[in-house]
Amino acid sequence: MSPSPLHAALHAVADACAVTRVVQRELAAIKSMTKDDRSPVTVADFAAQAIIGLRLGSALGSFALVGEESAADLRQSGGSALAAAVAEAVRQVCPGVSTAEVLDAIDLGNHDASGEHYWTLDPVDGTKGFLRGGQYAVSLALIEHGEVTLGVLGCPNLGSDFARGFDAPDPVGSLFYATRGAGAWQLPANTPAGSAERVRVAHDRTIEQMRVCESVEAAHSRQDFTSQVVARLNARGTPARLDSQTKYAVVARGQADAYLRLPTSASYVEKIWDHAAGMIVAEEAGAVVTDIEGRRLDFACGATLSRNRGVVCAPPPFHAALLESIASLMP
Ligand code: AMP
Ligand code: MG
Repeated sequence: MSPSPLHAALHAVADACAVTRVVQRELAAIKSMTKDDRSPVTVADFAAQAIIGLRLGSALGSFALVGEESAADLRQSGGSALAAAVAEAVRQVCPGVSTAEVLDAIDLGNHDASGEHYWTLDPVDGTKGFLRGGQYAVSLALIEHGEVTLGVLGCPNLGSDFARGFDAPDPVGSLFYATRGAGAWQLPANTPAGSAERVRVAHDRTIEQMRVCESVEAAHSRQDFTSQVVARLNARGTPARLDSQTKYAVVARGQADAYLRLPTSASYVEKIWDHAAGMIVAEEAGAVVTDIEGRRLDFACGATLSRNRGVVCAPPPFHAALLESIASLMP
């Protein structure tokens, strides 16, 4: 019997998380070898996409994948050293695979987001977090008829202990997953077949105690506007800042009460792979996820969320209050 899409996705993301950990252990060596501070995340990005391609291929046969990466640069004559480094990383998790097979597996992610059924992947979401040893995510979701029906979010540096700071990488990490109507679940990143714990949003804090989270990068979300929105609701806490879709997971498990992504420019359009898995995990845990004008995120427009602006993710009462606060402060 062939594995279910959820089973295939969990194992694929767990293996992709493992390869990002391998690269992260060798961060300093890769940086000094290539004289390029960003090369480790480039290697991790390509290697994680290759592993997801290989694993989904062997589990599901044919499938369509809209991935963030393409092997085009690696296939150019100047890309051969990087291609070799990527293939070496992939072989730590998939022994025996050739460089050509790795490049082909990366290019399985070249689907154009047309049709009724496709997966979407951000192999390393939160590249800055990856480089600074903070939070990042491997994000894989299935989109069917314009709706996200399954999401798996690997958070290699987020453990189960709420007391651990987001800047203190956990040695194991976590996997979060959700399918529509069946709740949201968490388990250790190294045991994708283990027993999972259900996660739910918090209901025990008042709006004054609301804990908000947002991007570390000021270019990705207007942090000054977040402060105003929160201050208007008399919420006292300082927003937690962390990279990647891990923000959806921390709201889903009740560690934070809201994830705000307030647009910094009118021209930026969000990408489906930056939200699909995180959104379904948060929704299935009891959060409401919309854009800043209260519209559901619309996954029926191809590779971007072109009908949406920003993101507000929070349990229902907080979500309504945040939308109202945003509307009242918008010019
Ligand atoms: P985060 O870690 O939440 O700050 O989000 C990281 C993601 O932000 C990356 O995957 C990028 O695709 C995305 N991004 C890049 N530029 C922008 C922008 N101007 N506004 C919002 N998101 C952006
Ligand atoms: Mg991303």
